[in-house]
Amino acid sequence: MKKFSEKIIYWYQENKRDLPWRNTKDAYLIWLSEIILQQTRVEQGMAYYLKFAKEFPTVKHLAAADDEKVMKLWQGLGYYSRARNLHAAAKVISEKHKGKFPNEHSDILLLKGVGEYTAAAIASFAFNKVHAVVDGNVYRVLSRVFGIETPIDSTEGKKEFYKLANELIDKKNPALHNQAIMEFGAIQCKPVSPDCSVCPLNTMCFAYAKKRITELPIKAKKTKVRCRYFNYIVLHHKTLTALNKRGEGDIWNSLYDFPLIETNKELGEDQFLKSKDWKNFIDGAQYTVKSIPVSYKHILSHQKIYARFWEIECAKPFDKLLPETAVVIKTKELHQYAVPRLIDIYLESRK
Ligand code: SF4
Repeated sequence: MKKFSEKIIYWYQENKRDLPWRNTKDAYLIWLSEIILQQTRVEQGMAYYLKFAKEFPTVKHLAAADDEKVMKLWQGLGYYSRARNLHAAAKVISEKHKGKFPNEHSDILLLKGVGEYTAAAIASFAFNKVHAVVDGNVYRVLSRVFGIETPIDSTEGKKEFYKLANELIDKKNPALHNQAIMEFGAIQCKPVSPDCSVCPLNTMCFAYAKKRITELPIKAKKTKVRCRYFNYIVLHHKTLTALNKRGEGDIWNSLYDFPLIETNKELGEDQFLKSKDWKNFIDGAQYTVKSIPVSYKHILSHQKIYARFWEIECAKPFDKLLPETAVVIKTKELHQYAVPRLIDIYLESRK
């Protein structure tokens, strides 16, 4: 399939975007960009990549950084386990590999947060090793061009696509081939309404010939979305407020949000203030509700969060009302804590 590779490489050289991580062979910077770009669009990820690369120019700088600093810098990007894994892996590279990025695919794969795709990307882009990358863009291109109907989220599908991708790769130019096919999927063979009339593969494309572009690739399972109802309690007493550090086993592990009462439906003001949960929380303390809370809708990949922020002025210090994981802080220091995007949006709206 030399023709396939030649065509996409030619297309890539004419159409590629100029992205900073493409102008380096530094495995650390390539790894950084790949982790940031998992589940994030290039336009959004770019500023984060530049910030991280400036703040932590080498893997040793990242390894030596404070946890809170890494999380704060990651704030707003979502999927925070990526930041935790990145930091943990940097420490392993710094200690076990003495700061030298592993150059074998099998060793790269052992790093925390690195899966098949990322290991292949680093091995090929930084070390020119022959490992085909298979991400969402590659699944789409291959399923459309070669008419593969096996679901991409099945074990069988994964095997089939990896096998084909490794057969197609240009063994002399694996980095170039991998960059080309990913960029081709991102820019030319887009998920919706690709312009097939200008596509260099249109004479060999199954989906174009059979008018099946909208059907491919095929996914077996639909993502189930869970709805959740958060009532955030934003406590105030004089110049103080409180944040809660989130724990493992739920979204936003290690980030800070406000003390929270989660309910199974959205409650209006009256319903909430009469609820058992609220009465248990406030425990007879004297308070006033500072403002009627506005409802925020926040969408994650598997969850829809409906959040209300209850601004509560307490007549006395509120320490005793708080869970063990909470911290009392000065209201003006709120911006120093790493918070999920939802909390950030709320804090911005209060300014
Ligand atoms: S012809 Fe259309 S569907 Fe086929 S590869 Fe090109 S852009 Fe994708």
